[in-house]
Amino acid sequence: MTVAQKKSIADIEVAHRSVIIRCDFNVPLAEDRQITDDRRIRLALPTIQSVLERGGRVVMISHLGRPGGKPNPDFSLRPVATRLSDLLGRPCGLAADVAGGDAAEKIAAMEDGDVLLLENLRFEPGEKSGDPAFANRLGSFADIYCNNAFGTCHRNDASMVALPEAMERKPRVVGLLVAREMDYLSETIANPGRPFLAVLGGAKVSDKISVIRQLLRSCDRILIGGAMAYTFSLAQGGSVGNSLVEPDKVDLAKQLLDEDQGKLELPVDTHCATAPGAGATGQIVAAGSIPDGFAGFDIGPQTAEKYAEFIAQAKTVVWNGPMGMFEVAPFDQGTLAVAQALAHATANGATTIVGGGDSAAAVEQMGLANQVSHVSTGGGASLAMLEGQTFAAVERLDEMCK
Ligand code: AMP
Repeated sequence: MTVAQKKSIADIEVAHRSVIIRCDFNVPLAEDRQITDDRRIRLALPTIQSVLERGGRVVMISHLGRPGGKPNPDFSLRPVATRLSDLLGRPCGLAADVAGGDAAEKIAAMEDGDVLLLENLRFEPGEKSGDPAFANRLGSFADIYCNNAFGTCHRNDASMVALPEAMERKPRVVGLLVAREMDYLSETIANPGRPFLAVLGGAKVSDKISVIRQLLRSCDRILIGGAMAYTFSLAQGGSVGNSLVEPDKVDLAKQLLDEDQGKLELPVDTHCATAPGAGATGQIVAAGSIPDGFAGFDIGPQTAEKYAEFIAQAKTVVWNGPMGMFEVAPFDQGTLAVAQALAHATANGATTIVGGGDSAAAVEQMGLANQVSHVSTGGGASLAMLEGQTFAAVERLDEMCK
């Protein structure tokens, strides 16, 4: 999918107009409600500033967590409004509701250059159900709709689809973040430098089946890691001990191995232990030979070295999903080796894309986020793009005039 034909916020007049910007401010919060990673907020700033600098008014909407369709102060966007005020250098108001009296009153009082955040969209049941009445109410708040929520683009929530539908007679555009993310991923998928390599890990094969199928068509090689690898190992008749596996996906894993045309690479060794965590007995064993009472928590060092060599030869690398339980040392080593290999490949001219979610958190945690070509803000959305899905949320938006 390309967004090249879609109008962006930079293409339209915004002076004296109010723009409702659907952002993805679903940021991680610590127990004391401090934001632990504000990347999604920082990456939204160019779009917000582009409206403010040209004399427009900004009304932002976002979800945060899963409050389940009713107000809950634990999921308030208050910490986001505070961080936005700091980053923008001007006060960002927060409405006490999403589409109620307080939101309407605060919007009516806005002047050019003002910024307002409405409360968590998921305080309203209509957000998840795609309710057109809720979308109509939100749509009445602004002159222009802007979708800048890449992490949510694969969803059909009211603010993503029903809202641009409700604003049919008004300009509906993509924000700069959505344009950048989609251009990066679509251009890479359409015209990859070769060899084109995918590295897939994470917990479940079931989440990644369609992406593996799609990538088997376009990629030259797919490196498999994470717990996903053990379901493949079972399919090959290996012993996996207590490793996380999906027995009902073994047949499917067999099918993929049959279809693979030699493209699927599986781990050759495994770092296993009796339990995750530092005190547990750990050992490196050959893949498919995990002893009883042990579970695999990471790829082994030989696999890490082999995967790093493949990455070093690639011209394009797309990575989605950690190689092991990277949150718990020492099972972060495989993921670290892949992250470092991506950084080296980037320095040598390869295009490297980290597809959001846990792998993005891993490269951030390892301090390597600035050493790869692109770290996506959307795990599920970038996977959906790799699967070749199109997004209803983006299709609704205005095209450039031909
Ligand atoms: P996903 O959301 O599918 O990308 O999975 C990410 C999660 O998979 C992370 O929280 C990892 O800790 C977890 N994970 C990766 N490898 C393993 C493994 N070998 N055993 C258990 N969990 C794992």
